[in-house]
Amino acid sequence: MLAEWEKLAREAAARNQAYDAYLLQLTELEVAARSANAIAARIRAAGFPALKDFDTFDFTATPNLAKQKVLELTRGEWIDQHFNCCLLGGSGTGKTHVAIALGLALCRLGKRVKFLTAAKLVTLLEVAQQQHRLDRLLATRDRFDLLAVDELGYLSFSRAGAELLFQVFADRYERRSLLITSNLPFGEWGQVFQGERMTAALLDRLTHQCHIFEMNGESYRFRESMKTKKDKDSKKGKSA
Ligand code: ADP
Ligand code: MG
Repeated sequence: MLAEWEKLAREAAARNQAYDAYLLQLTELEVAARSANAIAARIRAAGFPALKDFDTFDFTATPNLAKQKVLELTRGEWIDQHFNCCLLGGSGTGKTHVAIALGLALCRLGKRVKFLTAAKLVTLLEVAQQQHRLDRLLATRDRFDLLAVDELGYLSFSRAGAELLFQVFADRYERRSLLITSNLPFGEWGQVFQGERMTAALLDRLTHQCHIFEMNGESYRFRESMKTKKDKDSKKGKSA
């Protein structure tokens, strides 16, 4: 309001605008600025590794992925219902891209999102436990409406690490949403959460109310690099 009142007042005077209309305009500007700042702050707090949106995501490249169902999740009802979401598929199939785009959409809706890799989360939990501040860390995690855990399955954890991760997942059950991406099908999660019993208990909770997307297919990264290579080769061919 401080930045804009003089300019708007001049314009209002020139247009013979009523005072209440001027005040409304000024207030609307302030409200819009505040809401934009709040969105930017939530996006910063989420800690996305990059900012990727659905406008740069090519759904035709992933025919197995139901576009309408994915876009429906940007409306955020699943967060209010404490549902989870799992994106499963091989490397380069767009899991991280979709996870970030969903997270961004939810930040814009006013949801609090935290995005991190499974390895990072386990390290944070282990360090917090060593320093006797695990409860505090869990409490701060709890403030987020969505905890997005990327890349579950690339690294396996120690038994203690797996138990800590299990604790976080189980704790959110039916209270707060989780978004998990993994290169492993559920049947192979035993490799990450050593022990059949813990894996079964975890999957039971995670998938109880869950939107599951299988994104298998060719790696987008791989396809793109092959395309670039072909382009280069064909240019070489022409000039030869
Ligand atoms: P994953 O997490 O499954 O390994 P990423 O989401 O990191 O895959 O995707 C790898 C790269 O390819 C990223 O740069 C991503 O933006 C891009 N990408 C993947 N799938 C698509 C797609 N369908 N449309 C546009 N870009 C894509
Ligand atoms: Mg990824």
